[in-house]
Amino acid sequence: MVLGPRPDRADPAAPRPAPEPGTGRVTLVGGGPGDPGLITVAGLQALRQADVVVTDRLAPQECLAEIPAHAEVIDVAKIPRGEQTSQETINALLIDRARRGAHVVRFKGGDPYVFGRGGEEVVALTEAGVPVTVIPGVTSSIAAPELAGIPVTHRGLSQGFTVVSGHVAPGDPRSGVDWAALARSGTTLVILMGVHTLRRICTRLLADGMDPALPAATIADAGLAGQRVVRSTLAALPDAVEAAGIGSPAVTVIGAVAGGELPGTSALAERGLVR
Ligand code: SAH
Repeated sequence: MVLGPRPDRADPAAPRPAPEPGTGRVTLVGGGPGDPGLITVAGLQALRQADVVVTDRLAPQECLAEIPAHAEVIDVAKIPRGEQTSQETINALLIDRARRGAHVVRFKGGDPYVFGRGGEEVVALTEAGVPVTVIPGVTSSIAAPELAGIPVTHRGLSQGFTVVSGHVAPGDPRSGVDWAALARSGTTLVILMGVHTLRRICTRLLADGMDPALPAATIADAGLAGQRVVRSTLAALPDAVEAAGIGSPAVTVIGAVAGGELPGTSALAERGLVR
């Protein structure tokens, strides 16, 4: 990619470039987990070239200071379990603004394709004949544990990780997650959107044979000033999270990597964990 100059923000009355109908397009930008330093260079560049920004609650709001003075900002904040802007409304908004000739940035938290409905928006835009590109973002499923010092994989401890949505509790007919398979996997389990369902998820994993003493941690507001980390075990995590008053957004990570002490290269060799 080529970096252009920063738009001049000094003069808010600077002439607004007249959008030409038919020349509009949409860029989906993954903004990372919340720290404005964790957006990509390409994502920031797209924001600096936006005529319209359609933003989510979890996208790093500080980055909006970078958009041109003429740009329109539309907040479609989705408050969990509260008032929502429907996906159809958002799709229609993106199509409408692009058809009027605007460069529309759809600004999302984390990565657009990890529980971000980015795929749905790309389908809707493509069906409407609107050009769309996607700029990946740093996903909270990896970054939230990482910002709490927890690597999702580590030699000798975990050879993989699975990211699942906890939005629908185990046992709910709408759930498509095979929790028993996850309990057996021997790899790291990362749960997004799982604060309200945490107790039911942990109970289910224990019933499916997961070790109650397995380390587990919940990280809330990762990358933001109010970041909080609760470390516990699989069996004790729901009580610990409740006692700490943790709310959404939070990521839970379950597995040996969440234990706090990571074996270094020589320790791994001494314990015969790696060859
Ligand atoms: N596309 C996003 C995920 C959207 S789903 C991504 O890739 O990160 C929303 C969920 O993401 C939240 O319920 C929470 O589980 C997680 N999340 C997003 N930002 C977070 C943050 N700063 N701290 C902790 N969890 C976060």
